[in-house]
Amino acid sequence: MAPLWKAGAALAALREELSGDVFAPQDPGYDEARAVFNAMIDRRPAVIAQCADADDVVRTVRFARELDLNVAVRGGGHSVAGMAVNDGGVVVDLRRMHAVTVDPAARAARVAGGATMSHLDRATEPYGLATTGGRASTTGVGGFVLGGGTGWLDRCFGLAVDNLLGVELVTADGSRVHASADENPELFWALHGGGGNFGVATALTLRLHELPEFSLALLLYLPEHGPEAVRTYREVIANGPDEAAGGVIYLTGPPEEFVPEHLVGRLVCGVLLTYAGGEDDMRKVAQPLLALPHEAEIVGPMPYADLQCMIDDPPGMRNYWSAEYLAQAPDDFVDVFCARAGSMPVPTGTQHVLFPQGGAIAAGPREYPVPYRDAPWAVHPFGVWEDPADDERCVRWVRDVRADARPWSTGAVYLNFIGDEGDDRVTAGLGTDNTRRLAELKRRYDPDNVFRFNHNITPA
Ligand SMILES: Cc1cc2nc3c(=O)[nH]c(=O)nc-3n(C[C@H](O)[C@H](O)[C@H](O)COP(=O)(O)OP(=O)(O)OC[C@H]3O[C@@H](n4cnc5c(N)ncnc54)[C@H](O)[C@@H]3O)c2cc1C
Repeated sequence: MAPLWKAGAALAALREELSGDVFAPQDPGYDEARAVFNAMIDRRPAVIAQCADADDVVRTVRFARELDLNVAVRGGGHSVAGMAVNDGGVVVDLRRMHAVTVDPAARAARVAGGATMSHLDRATEPYGLATTGGRASTTGVGGFVLGGGTGWLDRCFGLAVDNLLGVELVTADGSRVHASADENPELFWALHGGGGNFGVATALTLRLHELPEFSLALLLYLPEHGPEAVRTYREVIANGPDEAAGGVIYLTGPPEEFVPEHLVGRLVCGVLLTYAGGEDDMRKVAQPLLALPHEAEIVGPMPYADLQCMIDDPPGMRNYWSAEYLAQAPDDFVDVFCARAGSMPVPTGTQHVLFPQGGAIAAGPREYPVPYRDAPWAVHPFGVWEDPADDERCVRWVRDVRADARPWSTGAVYLNFIGDEGDDRVTAGLGTDNTRRLAELKRRYDPDNVFRFNHNITPA
């Protein structure tokens, strides 16, 4: 730890040199600056640097190194474990760096490191272009992509990392490097799942795809019809084209216009069939689901970017999430999955989700550290609630879901869907051989583990 006089002088210099703002605990705005999506996280960094550009990031990393402080990187602040903030360290806050530049001819977008999904989707939409994004508009593109990235378009366009063309990075010694298939290819490989372990991504270049039309069927079923709805959805996906995606979501019926009174505040089984194409084709695929008795529906065309912000979770809630990736989802699994919905804490914001994979995810490049690629289904329970008195029952329910799913699990997991579940789960999220290779690269790029507020890879 640096002596106080040195820390004070360095902080004053940082305030002077940075184009963006700097917050220390005594500054007005500090509490707002340290708040993240998950209200269970309450950490007090020594310094939060709201960087305005890549030079600010370099200065902030060098400042942290000079004072021997650890660095947390904040993009959208959505990490459920609160990895965007630390206690007593430096936060490189990228939220001001959110520009997205679309090159329609090259079918590519350069996305600044602090942009959210909504910045990306709204920038590409006017060109009829899109790429795999997360399912909430406020998630940071940086954390999402570097961790793998799944969303409504992944069965069509692959994981987000499959669309990564280049990364502009500030490394632990404050250097700026570019990683792509041609430049620093080993580092580029590591950024396909290795998250924020290797530095601060000040910009990412992503491949875009044509998406002229998008449509969906969102259907709500009574819980007693859940098993039939889930089995039907499973068959629709198994027999349908890669354009079809979505998921099964048990949730508390929300007070929305399309939800009838008798479902509001009660457990409902929702099936969302998203379709990267027009309504007529979508209806043909969704027909078996539409034929089942359901209580509410939204069926028709919808701009993709609109769906992206339709189910945004509000900030300020308490969150605990986990996930298991399944080798298969046979009927006995479906029965267990649906039965567990019966003990879901209701009414809360908690959701019990089954996502399909397959399609372009399964057909994607084999070499990256994303070992969950081959699993056809993912169970993703997320506990979302308001009252701290519910902490224990909500966390327990999420753990119960995981325990239920384990007999069908491949053992691999997508790290962006889980909190801090220990080193073995990090290895499960990267693959054993990949973890070794990543640890060697971590030693090369961050031997002191300055970037440790992530699903951490210990330097070899
Ligand atoms: C409401 C909600 C919905 C979600 N939906 C999806 C979904 O549909 N699909 C999906 O795949 N995931 C989803 N996620 C998970 C999400 O992808 C991860 O939480 C992801 O890490 C969030 O990135 P962030 O930048 O918002 O978070 P942060 O908390 O800011 O960062 C998360 C991690 O990434 C690192 N990081 C962030 N930006 C950078 C950067 N520019 N350079 C280097 N490191 C960086 C941070 O240091 C931290 O370790 C969702 C999360 C939430 C809260």
